[in-house]
Amino acid sequence: MFIRRSLYTLTILLILCTGRAVGQTQGQSSGQTQGQTSGQPTHSNPWAPMDLGQLPPVASLSDGVWLKGELHMHSRHSNDASNNSIAKIIAFCNTVGIDYLCITDHDNHVGGDVAHNTWADPEFKSDSVLLLYGAEWTTTRGHGNVFSARPYDHQRLYDVRDQRDIVIGAVVKELGVHLSANHPSGKDHFGFSYDMVKSIEVWNSAIWSKNANAMMIWDDMLSSGRKLTGRGGSDAHHGVPDSPDKTAKNTYQRYANYAGTPTTWVFATSRTSQAVVDALTNGRVCVSANPYAPRVEFYADLDQDGKMDMMMGDNAKATGKAVTFHVQLTGKTVPDSSYTVNVVKNGDPFATYRVRGSQPVVEFTDTPVVLGRTYYRIEVEGPPTAYPQVPQSPALAGNMVGLSNPIYFNFDPNF
Ligand SMILES: [Zn+2]
Ligand SMILES: [Zn+2]
Repeated sequence: MFIRRSLYTLTILLILCTGRAVGQTQGQSSGQTQGQTSGQPTHSNPWAPMDLGQLPPVASLSDGVWLKGELHMHSRHSNDASNNSIAKIIAFCNTVGIDYLCITDHDNHVGGDVAHNTWADPEFKSDSVLLLYGAEWTTTRGHGNVFSARPYDHQRLYDVRDQRDIVIGAVVKELGVHLSANHPSGKDHFGFSYDMVKSIEVWNSAIWSKNANAMMIWDDMLSSGRKLTGRGGSDAHHGVPDSPDKTAKNTYQRYANYAGTPTTWVFATSRTSQAVVDALTNGRVCVSANPYAPRVEFYADLDQDGKMDMMMGDNAKATGKAVTFHVQLTGKTVPDSSYTVNVVKNGDPFATYRVRGSQPVVEFTDTPVVLGRTYYRIEVEGPPTAYPQVPQSPALAGNMVGLSNPIYFNFDPNF
């Protein structure tokens, strides 16, 4: 079943990847055939790149607050979790300074009724951690997370889980929730249309190396014109037992993968749940190996005046003039260590820079095309950052420090 679903998704991806090339080939051959008789090509692709006119203005780069959070976590309301009460998770988040949290229990373990389980748990409350309402939508075709600032009718989404995408998409739209693709490659991959989601879990769990295919799928979706936010999620299920006799089969995972491995940072307009969800949707987001690791900030100066005009997640019109890009690591870097900054442009490696931890800043220049889309995103490698509360996690992240979301040019807001 999984193999068949994978082939189905792969076919969709291949169509997305090659659709334009096939169209161009058909257009050319039809033009050539016509050319032999009339000399006039007859095919004009209505989907070809065109001038989009004015794009919505970019939001303020200074009015906001960086918040760090965990977007994929299972409590005792998932029956494959152990020793993981909601109180235990929230207490841990307070200890390590996590600002927001979405507990995403498997909805199928409670017949879709998360409202009377996770959300009704007396422990589901906090004065310090912003709690999002959500669940892991657990279906035959794979998993997705829902993020919402307020309660919504999750039961409706659960009930349509095995319907066609057109039915599910209508429900997602009516509920007004942020649906996100989970662990998009491999077992339980998100086997639905990416037109229904606003973000994708490009970094699942502390083990960075297993996310290569997720990153590839993200680049495919971005390259096909989808403005899709990349985010992280530990997918942790297991907590510390209250006494040795409560030790469970998977308790060992607690020390390798828990809240914050990885950490998803959002630049929110305020310290509210709604602003967190909005930032996840608009893409002002970066992902770090853990809450103590530095985060990647990525800006662009469009008019060479030395002042930054946009940041990751933002979309601007390409003018044909050179753009200066600014990358910085914010937080605790290792001063005498070397960090590698990889720039990805339109899914391909664009440039690699090495910086010292004492001066973790890179600037580079490029000119996005006037007609058609361009995106740039950043991946940073370097020394691991210790996470004493989850001591085995840095070894699993390896040299991966963090990643940015893209800066976009000429992405159609009405796509
Ligand atoms: Zn899952
Ligand atoms: Zn999960």
